[in-house]
Formats: sequence, structure tokens, C-alpha cells
Amino acid sequence: MTDISSGSARQATKFIAIDGPAGSGKSSVSKEIARRFGYGYLDTGAAYRALAWHVLETGADTADADAVRAAASGFPLHQGLDPDDRRVRVGDVEVTDAIREPRVSAAVSGVARVPEVRVQVNEMFRRIVDEAEYPAVVVEGRDITTVVAPDAPVRILLTAAPEVRAARRAGELAGENAAAVAEALHKRDASDSGVVDFLNAAPGVDVVDSTDLDFAQTVDAVLTVIERRRSAADGSAERGASHG
Ligand code: C5P
Repeated sequence: MTDISSGSARQATKFIAIDGPAGSGKSSVSKEIARRFGYGYLDTGAAYRALAWHVLETGADTADADAVRAAASGFPLHQGLDPDDRRVRVGDVEVTDAIREPRVSAAVSGVARVPEVRVQVNEMFRRIVDEAEYPAVVVEGRDITTVVAPDAPVRILLTAAPEVRAARRAGELAGENAAAVAEALHKRDASDSGVVDFLNAAPGVDVVDSTDLDFAQTVDAVLTVIERRRSAADGSAERGASHG
């Protein structure tokens, strides 16, 4: 039988949890942190996007919670943890590029809003991290610091001003109309923030605001938080040992 308490304690220490809204820089920063330490990297947004793609593929309406629940059961997602291999498959179909299409971005919030789906997907994330052949996994999303791994030793909320996030996202999606990208991003933020609060840090979560930071500075700021949290954890473990 599985020992749930020790299982979850083991999982928590393997998480480096990074939450934030779209355009905060969390994907590129999380991947870079994973590379520096030789850790795994899990993009939970990609899993929700793949599920939204899967629901659209079945022809169902992503606003129909029953259809979303049905599509989510037995959802054949294949997603690795290598930060330099972002391929995502659903069954035999590679969906790496398709899940970034505007039609999927527009549909994903509806899928992510179904509570049973979130429970199921969160369990999958915990299992992936627990079974990972990496010493730790940088997990990025919206509710990793609060719901998926609230006991993780390092929990970071990466934020940036809305106009900066919209400009970054428009820059990534070359060819798309900047105003339309900004509008879609704000719409998705508004819809997502009704499900989980990823704009305000929960108690104990460190905030890194990347509004005025470039990529290298943001990575450094995140590394500083990781070092500080780890030395605090080491210090309290040593104090515990000397008192024990
Ligand atoms: O991170 P990304 O912008 O690719 O996420 C896509 C969508 O997946 C979000 O807009 C949100 O609806 C959903 N999501 C979520 N919880 C997470 C990660 C993503 O609800 N942990």
C-alpha cells in the first residue's frame, strides 16, 4: 500500500514551484534554472493546452464541463522533463506547435476551470515529479505554489506589469497583431484569475517582479531566492540536529 504522507513529503522537496501570468517570463526563466542545476522542467500550462487541444479535436465545446470531463478521463498525454525538449504528444499526435495556436489559447481557460479536471491533472503533475529521474523539477504554472505543491521548499511568483507582459508575448508571436495579442492575453488573465489567484503571492511565496529586469537579471533574481531559501532550510535542519 502507498504511504501517502511520506510520499507527499518526498514529492514536495523535489519541487521548485514557479507561478505567474502569461508573459511574466516564467517559461524561459524556469527552463534556464533547470539547465543550470541539471533539473527537470515541467510546463503545466502545456498540459492544460494539450487537454484543450484534445477537447477541440473531439469536436466538443470547451465551455461544456461534461464534455471536458469526458475528454480528460484517459487523456493520453506524453510530456518529457528535459528543458531542451519541449515536444508534447497526445496519443501518437505531436501537438507541440498546435497547442500554441490562438484557438487553443482561447479555449484553454474553459478547460482549466473544471474542478475535477484540475484535481486529476494535479495528481498527474505530482506523480510525474515523484517518478522523475531528476533530483528536482522546476514546475511552472498558475497554482503550483498554492495547490499542487504548497509545501515546496522554494516557491516563487514571477510577475511583471501587464503592458510589459503583453509586449513580450507579442514579440514571441511574430506576425500576430500586437493589439490582438494584448487583448487575448488580458482576456485569458481575467478568466484564469477567477479560478486561481496568480497575481498575488500566498504567504511564504517569494515575489520576483521582472517588469524592469532583462532575462539574465530575472534568472539571477530567481537564483538568489533559491539560494536564500535553501540556506534557510539547511540552517533550520542543522539547528534541529544540534537540539536533537
Ligand atoms: O502557462 P500557459 O499560459 O501556457 O498556460 C495556459 C493556460 O493553462 C492558462 O491560461 C490557464 O488557463 C491554464 N493553467 C492553469 N493552471 C496551471 C497552468 C496553466 O489553469 N498550473
